[in-house]
Amino acid sequence: MKFKFLLTILCLFFLLGGCKSGSSPKKTKLVVGIVIDQMRYDYLTRFADRFGDGGFNRILQGGFSLENAHYNLIPTYTAVGHASIYTGTTPSEHGIISNDWYDKYEKKSVYCVYDSAYKTLGNSGLNGQKSPKRLVTSTITDQLHLAQNMHGKTIGISIKDRAAILPAGHTANAAYWYDGENYNTWITSTFYMNKIPQWVTDFNSDNKADEYLNSPWETLYGIDSYKNSRSDDNIFEETLIGQDAPTFPKDLKSLRSKNNNFDLLKTVPAGNTFTVDFAKAAIVGEKLGKGTYTDFLAVSFSSTDYVGHKYGVSAIETEDTYLRLDKDLAHFFQFLDKQVGKDNYTLFLTADHAAVHNPAYLQSLKIPAHYLNAEKLKTFLSEITKNYFNSSDLIENVSNYQIFLNKEKMASLKLDRHTVAQKLADEVVNFENIYKAVTANTLQTTHFSSGILNSLQNGYNQKISGDVLMIPNPATLIRARKGTSHGSGYSYDTHVPIIFYGNGIKKGVSKKRYTITDIAPTIANLLRIEAPNGTNGEIIDEALSK
Ligand code: ZN
Ligand code: ZN
Repeated sequence: MKFKFLLTILCLFFLLGGCKSGSSPKKTKLVVGIVIDQMRYDYLTRFADRFGDGGFNRILQGGFSLENAHYNLIPTYTAVGHASIYTGTTPSEHGIISNDWYDKYEKKSVYCVYDSAYKTLGNSGLNGQKSPKRLVTSTITDQLHLAQNMHGKTIGISIKDRAAILPAGHTANAAYWYDGENYNTWITSTFYMNKIPQWVTDFNSDNKADEYLNSPWETLYGIDSYKNSRSDDNIFEETLIGQDAPTFPKDLKSLRSKNNNFDLLKTVPAGNTFTVDFAKAAIVGEKLGKGTYTDFLAVSFSSTDYVGHKYGVSAIETEDTYLRLDKDLAHFFQFLDKQVGKDNYTLFLTADHAAVHNPAYLQSLKIPAHYLNAEKLKTFLSEITKNYFNSSDLIENVSNYQIFLNKEKMASLKLDRHTVAQKLADEVVNFENIYKAVTANTLQTTHFSSGILNSLQNGYNQKISGDVLMIPNPATLIRARKGTSHGSGYSYDTHVPIIFYGNGIKKGVSKKRYTITDIAPTIANLLRIEAPNGTNGEIIDEALSK
């Protein structure tokens, strides 16, 4: 009898144990979303032999890497990229059509996260007047909150406000960004809270920024070992104000006063280290990954973008920034192992867009590349309206390669809006370096299922976009004679890394084409929650272990 009883207990034990280790793996305690601003996919391959074991290589080898993942939208800018990653959809739905755009209702240029209804917390400045109100769909972070009845914490962190605010979503516990110049404080907005947490105040009074700015930026390894990059002194890179050439070492201590003081930290690799410092403080301060519910930390590294803009894709500065970021990531992953537990977190790493090689550099190599004169373009457009409609006042604004027409003026002249828009689209392709142009009406009535016009369509929002949308030639920039930029729908701007790692993720690689909007539904599926309300991406089934 006693034996039978023991046997029953033993069977029950194995049965329960069997259930536990079977179909449903344990709940992840913390999701960490990492976005690296302006990271091209080929930085992973170009610098592969220079990376250590604990950073990029650790998640590449232990996680699932998408080798052919792209942005399927235009423009490839920071706010748009972050919004698309976290909403699983494109500007056509989420409403973030650029970093800044012309608001045709307010009749002025607006910034994606500016909101005068809120105040700064953390210093006495105005840079905390922000909220995600222009983002009109929900984020994966919002969905996690909804699924857990608002339990669990969701926090966004970045040097750039938009890269912290948009990922953290509408229901975020907090978003923090760095106010440099003469403030040197991590701040937030009264949108999130009424009082800044003590751990943020403590972090700010620690003043790590001064420490970083007191040491020069020297290359991590001997400068001759940077074989993957151009020689240090060349005409395609910007110099810091006060430097004669774009060369190493960069004596930050003596240069900071001429380069907006603490803002200089944003434009050097230590800006990424500083971001990790703050992210670690947030994990400890908010006890992320320690509760019953799943928490979400969205961290975006912005210094890679500032460095990229200044020096370009092929610069030693850029290579060195990634080698140093690799070390920062290794430390961050180690910290997560210790603080949250090796199997308790799920992580993804991607970029908000990539970047083009400096056009002048490409020209020097005989690869077609161009600079577009925006002022001349405006004159050209007003000449079209003058010639065909006898008015120079039909265009209200030209920005982000979009033309906004003046509806009142057209109505007063009894002009048909579609006729004016179509004439502009037909004629503007005669302008140097404008490659394609389509009207809003075409985008509303034609479905482009692939290619660059599909990306344009995904970036077009009927309610807020312009009346004519233009696409420049490949490798065309408006500025950046030195350094570089991004924003197009061409592969140099759209091809980014996407790597998943940790709890619930398989080991492997895929060469299939995926889009940036696939991240949010994949994470939603892994967490067994609803995807964001505008999601049109697909679940990347092959990356998930369940
Ligand atoms: Zn960016
Ligand atoms: Zn940028």
